[in-house]
Amino acid sequence: MASAIRIHQFPCLSDNYGVLLHSPATGETISIDAPDASAVLAALSETGWKLTHILVTHHHADHVQGMDELKQKTGCMAIGPANPAIKGLDRTVADGDSFELAGEKVSVIATPGHTLDMLNYHFPASHLLFAGDTLFAMGCGRVFEGTPELMWNSLQKLMKLPPETQVYCGHEYTLSNAKFAIGIDASNPALQARLKEVEAARARNEPTIPTTIGIELQTNPFLRAADREIRAGLAMQDASDAEVFAEIRERKNRG
Ligand code: ZN
Ligand code: FE
Repeated sequence: MASAIRIHQFPCLSDNYGVLLHSPATGETISIDAPDASAVLAALSETGWKLTHILVTHHHADHVQGMDELKQKTGCMAIGPANPAIKGLDRTVADGDSFELAGEKVSVIATPGHTLDMLNYHFPASHLLFAGDTLFAMGCGRVFEGTPELMWNSLQKLMKLPPETQVYCGHEYTLSNAKFAIGIDASNPALQARLKEVEAARARNEPTIPTTIGIELQTNPFLRAADREIRAGLAMQDASDAEVFAEIRERKNRG
């Protein structure tokens, strides 16, 4: 059955995405994070939807700085990780929690690594994942607060979701990620084709998000630490997957 949830994604700040979810059945409207209050308010007036909830992924300013203003102007409630650095949460949730929103079950998946508080929100019935700054198209978040091993464990949780899962992430980093990816996984035909598609889409100023878990499993080098050709290219045939992941992450940091 087709998803009953409607989605409106819009660029904001320099390279962030805002996302609104709306359930016509319940009337609820959810903002994924609050990157920029005025951009979210503009999206609300464009869609005619009334904001009822904010789902917060992590404490970085470009994900929470609009919360205060949105709460004041709309009376919405904010749900997010129990981190005192995030002011104004009405309810905290944690790994493994699930709750009902927009007429659907929402499952909370903790994916620490980029930050220790990172939560992703999975709507299994609609095959939607809001991945914050954990998983990007052909990339992953920089490991600021965790260790590469922790980040790898987090990414593995997402890799187990159904391949058709639509992945919305916090930023449009796809083109630079693709150019890095081709240097790690040059002989991958799916990646070669995707690089061309992404170059064309960005030249037309079109978003490359959402992606899917299935596409990422085929083309995202950070999820392909087990791939024999990638390992051979890194001369890491005998390393663990976590070690290969850490090396790819380190090369991206330097790049
Ligand atoms: Zn972040
Ligand atoms: Fe961010």
